[in-house]
Amino acid sequence: MSDPLLRVEKLVKRFPVKGGVLRRTVGQVHAVSGVSFDLARGETLGLVGESGCGKSTTGRLILRLIEPTSGHVWFEGRDVTALNEREMLALRRDMQIIFQDPYASLNPRMTVGGIIGEALTIHGLAPNAREREARVVELLETVGLRADHMRRFPHEFSGGQRQRIGIARALAVSPKLVICDEPVSALDVSIQAQVVNLLEDLQEKFGLTYLFIAHDLSVVEHISDRVAVMYLGRIVEIASSRELYANPRHPYTEALLSAVPIPDPTLKRERIRLAGDVPSPLNPPPGCNFHTRCPIANQGSCRSEVPELRETSPGHFVACHLRA
Ligand code: SF4
Repeated sequence: MSDPLLRVEKLVKRFPVKGGVLRRTVGQVHAVSGVSFDLARGETLGLVGESGCGKSTTGRLILRLIEPTSGHVWFEGRDVTALNEREMLALRRDMQIIFQDPYASLNPRMTVGGIIGEALTIHGLAPNAREREARVVELLETVGLRADHMRRFPHEFSGGQRQRIGIARALAVSPKLVICDEPVSALDVSIQAQVVNLLEDLQEKFGLTYLFIAHDLSVVEHISDRVAVMYLGRIVEIASSRELYANPRHPYTEALLSAVPIPDPTLKRERIRLAGDVPSPLNPPPGCNFHTRCPIANQGSCRSEVPELRETSPGHFVACHLRA
């Protein structure tokens, strides 16, 4: 990939765990352990995994809403992790986020016009009140809401409408990259497709690049050009969407895919049920951190060596001793 919009390089995040009366550090949560990927302009990368696998933390690290323990994030060739506060504020125009729970992320005491207009004011994009209002109306209509909605408060809207408000707020500053952090997980299934379709339309209209985070492979299938699967802080497989769904290679991806319903009732897919729960990120297993649940794990390398992400066919990367 030449000249990616975003490059994430060996990103690591450990959260200290405090304990005892003196609140000393007694352990570390291994939230993200060496995540790397590129994102091309106009591309959508789906980032998928179970709760606690580090996918949302990765999104927040990219935006520096939290600071990485180590590693780098490059945006248009600039090292985001090295920017000062002022430079970071300028860059936030280019990188926006849409949250899972639109209600929690919208200030209940502000009108919708105030919420969307705030970003315009912070970044100096509305020289006066009249222009600010005109831009808010334009944004509301862009996401399928009406001009008169600007005078209402978040609690007056349905979940799907609130997510549209969150999208309008993100679009207000004309970003290049939007991190969609489980944007449809809290919505009814019937509304999910509408919001995904809206995001696709907006991508085409504004040339947006998406990192689309989800816990379910079925949600990201249609919107993603490529998909990365995460398990316990690491990417275990990454490939084009078509390749990953047709030819999954990592045993964890196979298990996730086996749970996705197939629209054609004449086709059957055997459900792979993984043993046990995801181990605690406080104390991840040695070797391949999936070995405690992997149906094909061996007694040797799987338990002692961390598998590298290797290219098994053009553009298809897998972290598995037995499948790469
Ligand atoms: Fe399973 Fe071993 Fe591959 Fe890990 S490296 S996914 S334990 S086979």
